[in-house]
Amino acid sequence: MTEADEKAKRKSKASWRPDLLYSLVLFLVAVFAIGFAIQKVGVLSGDYSWGTAIFFLGFGLFTITTGFPHPGFGHISFDRVAQVACILVLGPVDAAWINGLASFIYPWHRMLGGTSGRTVLTAACNNSGLMSLLILLCGSLYQYLGGPVPLFALDLRTAGLLLLLMLSMQFLNDLGMMVIFYLRNLHPTSLFNAFSSAVESVSVLLAIIVAIAYTTADPEYFALLVVVLCILMSVLRQYALMRFRLEALVEERTEELRVQSIEFERQATHDNLTGLVNRRYADDYLQREIEVAHRHGREFTIALADIDHFKEINDRHSHAVGDEVLRRVAKILVDRCRKTDVVARYGGEEFLLCFPDADATFAEHICNQVRIAVQNANWSDIESPTGEALRVTISIGIAESLDESRRTTVLNEADTRLYRAKNEGRNRVVS
Ligand code: GH3
Ligand code: MG
Ligand code: MG
Repeated sequence: MTEADEKAKRKSKASWRPDLLYSLVLFLVAVFAIGFAIQKVGVLSGDYSWGTAIFFLGFGLFTITTGFPHPGFGHISFDRVAQVACILVLGPVDAAWINGLASFIYPWHRMLGGTSGRTVLTAACNNSGLMSLLILLCGSLYQYLGGPVPLFALDLRTAGLLLLLMLSMQFLNDLGMMVIFYLRNLHPTSLFNAFSSAVESVSVLLAIIVAIAYTTADPEYFALLVVVLCILMSVLRQYALMRFRLEALVEERTEELRVQSIEFERQATHDNLTGLVNRRYADDYLQREIEVAHRHGREFTIALADIDHFKEINDRHSHAVGDEVLRRVAKILVDRCRKTDVVARYGGEEFLLCFPDADATFAEHICNQVRIAVQNANWSDIESPTGEALRVTISIGIAESLDESRRTTVLNEADTRLYRAKNEGRNRVVS
């Protein structure tokens, strides 16, 4: 394991510890709160059998399972249907322990997929603790304000209380999740998602239908309704999964296109052999920068550098050796110039150097350094098929951009001086 891996492991251990602790505390608080409430009102205090409790436990498990990955974090499911329906049929205390138990049972299947026991325990305690506490609190508030349990029919007042029940559950749920986000250093905005809020609202509507049907309809009709609802939730789940897959695919393709267009852009402006910018890029750059320099009264100097007798290098040592010489000369040029200078491959064995904010004296100084570096470079380690010693030199012509001089004028001047350097015996700088 590398040092970076160990660091990451230490960091991840450090980052799950507080959220496990938080989840355990939440779970214990829920257990005590429910225990206290049961002591006061008893289990299944209404006129219901254990069969009803088992039905809601099963329904709770089904609705938690009928979910899909949240785009930001975790899992969205239709669990609110079972939770709210259970509150409206059995009251907050029974609803809290039944749905808390379902939430506790659900995450353990993840261990089959290789998730660690501690992570699953964190999820089980967090989900179950948060869920049962918010059912207990919000359900009790609903009942305390006069919300009917069991629910037989809807009137305006009950509708208002149900809205309050839904909003308070949503609020407490988001609050609890924000704590987990904070402990895991996740960005809380990824928690809020229009689609999951829509699922939440639809779930509460379905829960109201289930609760009213449970208390008013014949058992056969109720069973039929539950089957239809389960199918509906499964279809919605499929739709959501498809939507997320499609979104992921679009994102992946967009990223591929972005990478591809960066590569096309690079290929259009760069030379493959040396990695320098190409003539097309250099011409655009010169056009622009000479104008900017004139406008701001700044100096701007260019130099044209050409490898001496390069044709001979190719002929005597091979084209491959010629290519290697081009690569090395390009590197020497880049190394000797300032970061803000632009070095371009301007022709076969010709390079353009641009020196913004520099006069001819400065450019001449750099160019002479470059010329000496090329001459003194260790060329003997390039293997030549002929075994002959390799000698490389360059000639350079410099031109300063004066007021009103245009790109072509400056380039012509540099070219004339390069020609002079060649005529005067090569391996020299003419300014
Ligand atoms: P001078 O000192 O006057 O500049 O002579 P020279 O031989 O360098 O000039 P010339 O223009 O006659 O030859 C340039 C040669 O550069 C001809 C061409 O085959 C070669 N060349 C151009 N591009 C490449 C390239 O990418 N790789 C290689 N290996 N050779 C190239
Ligand atoms: Mg040449
Ligand atoms: Mg040439």
